Amino acid sequence: MIYLDNQATTPLDPRVLDAMLPYLTTRFGNPSSPHRYGREARDAVEESRKQLCRLLGARSTREVVFTSGATESNNLAIKGVVGALGHRGNHVITTAIEHKSVLATCSQLEDAGTAVTYLPVAGDGRVDPQRLKEAITPRTILVSVMHANNETGALQPLEEISSITRPQGVLLHTDAAQSAGTIPFDVDLLGVDLASMSGHKLYGPKGIGALYVRRTERTVLLEAQMVGGNQEQGLRSGTLNVPGIIGLGQAAALLAEEREAVARHTMRLRERLRMGLLEALDDVQVNGSLHHRLPGNLNVSFAGVEAADLLASLPDVALSEGSACGTGQAAPSHVLSAMRVTREQARGAVRISIGRFNSEADIELALECIVHAVRRARCRHARTPEL
Ligand code: PMP
Repeated sequence: MIYLDNQATTPLDPRVLDAMLPYLTTRFGNPSSPHRYGREARDAVEESRKQLCRLLGARSTREVVFTSGATESNNLAIKGVVGALGHRGNHVITTAIEHKSVLATCSQLEDAGTAVTYLPVAGDGRVDPQRLKEAITPRTILVSVMHANNETGALQPLEEISSITRPQGVLLHTDAAQSAGTIPFDVDLLGVDLASMSGHKLYGPKGIGALYVRRTERTVLLEAQMVGGNQEQGLRSGTLNVPGIIGLGQAAALLAEEREAVARHTMRLRERLRMGLLEALDDVQVNGSLHHRLPGNLNVSFAGVEAADLLASLPDVALSEGSACGTGQAAPSHVLSAMRVTREQARGAVRISIGRFNSEADIELALECIVHAVRRARCRHARTPEL
């Protein structure tokens, strides 16, 4: 089986597992405990916080709040700002192509009386900063724009966006679940005030993530969504997931060193696959910008072929139909719909996501399997009489 679904989740890096193991066995202390077991766990958690700071370009470990993943980080960031700054305004701006954890959060807030603007995207899957500028009102408190889209890999112009939000005193949150471990990411260079990330998208474990919360020149106020023992500066109560945190820290430390080399590797494999598909098959449509795109992502439609049928005929290649979080839904992807691709093209869209552990041999074999499967599907289609 060839695994080309690294945007759904990545395999755990063996070096991450090694770092975690002692915290699942002998070093089991609760970091809030005052004795040696607690201290040992606490010191390790603080080291992970430093490793995360280095990956994100954060200045202080106080800016990192551990959560259960990007879903929780997105909820905490958006509901937290609205809860804390409701007296200043009740308007949030986001985009039509966000992950469901942002869209569902915004929809809940709308039900409770917050006004939300959903920015459209162009055909390449990117937001127009000018449209954002026009959408800001004196009541706007937060803009939430993802860094890289989980279906198309499209990268959003965060630097341009922050150059608009900053002077107006509007906070900028980004969902960096797909980007922080994949491409250069620096909270100061991008100008973001809040950033969500997830362990299992960067070769770390599942069930652990973090929220970066700016605490320097313009400290972000957040209302906690999980209350209890006041861990994480009161922003996220609950006993810390120490093995998960150690794993996330180790994954961050590795990627801080290796992220660029990994990106070169995945981009080279992605391009080999893309060129191979274009050479072997007619009517292949790449969805989304090629230039502003995650290095390992290919979102592609084969005319006349339904993605669900294609995937069913590829038992040995793990790919995804649109996004993993949206599978089982009959409606075409909300991301491709926002890009105004045709319904047929959207129903044919397959997401191929290449990761650091994929080899050239994987790509050659996957290419052969996909080309055969598309040809077979097109033959079947040509033979099926119109009803
Ligand atoms: N945001 C994006 C862009 C994602 O791709 C995902 C994972 N599919 C999430 C948020 C949710 O992350 P988690 O699984 O850590 O909750």
